[in-house]
Amino acid sequence: MKTAYNADQLVVSKFGGTSMGDAACMLRSAEVSLKQGSKLVVVSATSGTTNDLIELATTAEKSSWEKASVIINKIKTKHEKIATDLELPESQLKIMNEMLVELESMSRGIHLLKDCSLKAMDSMQSFGERLSSILFTQAMNIVLKKSNPGSKSEWLDAREVLITDNQFGKARPETQEIARLCAKKLGAIKHENTVYVTQGFIGSTIDGMTTTLGRGGSDYSAAILAEGIKADILEIWTDVAGIATTDPRICPEARAISEISFKEASELATFGAKILHPATLMPAIRSQIPVFVGSSFGAHLGGTWVKKDVEDTPLVRAMALRKKQVLVTLSTPEMLYSHGFLFQIFKIFNDHKVSVDAITTSEISVSMTLDDSALLNKALIRDLEQQADVQVEEDLSLISLIGNNINHTPGLAKKIFDAISDINVRMICLGASKHNFCFIVDGAHGEEAIKRLHKTFIG
Ligand code: ASP
Ligand code: MG
Repeated sequence: MKTAYNADQLVVSKFGGTSMGDAACMLRSAEVSLKQGSKLVVVSATSGTTNDLIELATTAEKSSWEKASVIINKIKTKHEKIATDLELPESQLKIMNEMLVELESMSRGIHLLKDCSLKAMDSMQSFGERLSSILFTQAMNIVLKKSNPGSKSEWLDAREVLITDNQFGKARPETQEIARLCAKKLGAIKHENTVYVTQGFIGSTIDGMTTTLGRGGSDYSAAILAEGIKADILEIWTDVAGIATTDPRICPEARAISEISFKEASELATFGAKILHPATLMPAIRSQIPVFVGSSFGAHLGGTWVKKDVEDTPLVRAMALRKKQVLVTLSTPEMLYSHGFLFQIFKIFNDHKVSVDAITTSEISVSMTLDDSALLNKALIRDLEQQADVQVEEDLSLISLIGNNINHTPGLAKKIFDAISDINVRMICLGASKHNFCFIVDGAHGEEAIKRLHKTFIG
């Protein structure tokens, strides 16, 4: 069987929820994975199922059992239909049905206790990926049987290798432990005639409690596992053919980027239409594993490579808009001629686990942008007020231009600000990276600014 890469290249591929939509989608994805010669396939829940599971957990906790039952039946029917369409073998059907019984019992437990902790919520959400991966293993076996009868597909419980801390709802991977377990359980994967199918999004604490990496976490899982098994290539298959120059919902002229460097990618706050969050690729980036992003619905359409070295290094390659930003400005005369002020401030952000994005300072003030959700944390603002006068401006948008040689190109700022000369720029951040120029505008003008800048720089 001829695959897309050299036979000795180890490929991990990940398929998102829409690529798992129904039996036909699963078979199409399995064909893609076969053609690419993937040895480890990481899958999301079937589309919409994670939302259904969250709704189920909340309904079981807060509402009637009748209402919860309706959701359970919806989830059951959807997966049973795929199982029938894929002619899931008896032994696998038994495993799937046991999972569905477990889901119902767990929902009952939540309903009786009227309590759904983050820990319980993670266990509930894990059923999405656990169910879809059973079904996808069968889809994979169907396509393998046809074209590669010597090989088979095997289901792998991600929780046996993807160890995390116990921050339920947004657990963090224990990289060293993962590397150790990957070597132990998947050390020979390259030479085996087996395609492993496993779940994205879920993991386990060292003592066996199910965790999740946070919504959309399957890409992250795939990157973590690619790093864990020392893969040569990571493929992320979704429903759009690559990363766009900007969000096509804002700017219909946006088009797919053929390649982007790790350094540029790391500076992007969001990729195109948020098809994947750049932070999720960090394990692949730090291990220098090239990542391909494409559509399982049109694999031939090509996609985007995210890799260390790229051929083309345009001044502006892509641009992103991040809405719902707040600008927090702290002023105090004590900052003049003093030291340690920034340390005090950032210690407060650290204590509250709030991440700061863009920063500028003057002699006695410092301004920084945060996601507006940070404002829900009243104690954060109170603590900041102990240190300085605090001014908060809401409903702003952060615009970032990503490219190359940004801080060494004369006339770039002029070109940017000429394009949006009637829009007030509230704050600018430039200088820290040659790959990023970002600034803040009023929320109402964010999309217009992106449209004009896209026209000016990308066309
Ligand atoms: N199924 C999970 C979610 O919908 C994880 C993922 O799809 O990446 O958030
Ligand atoms: Mg998803």
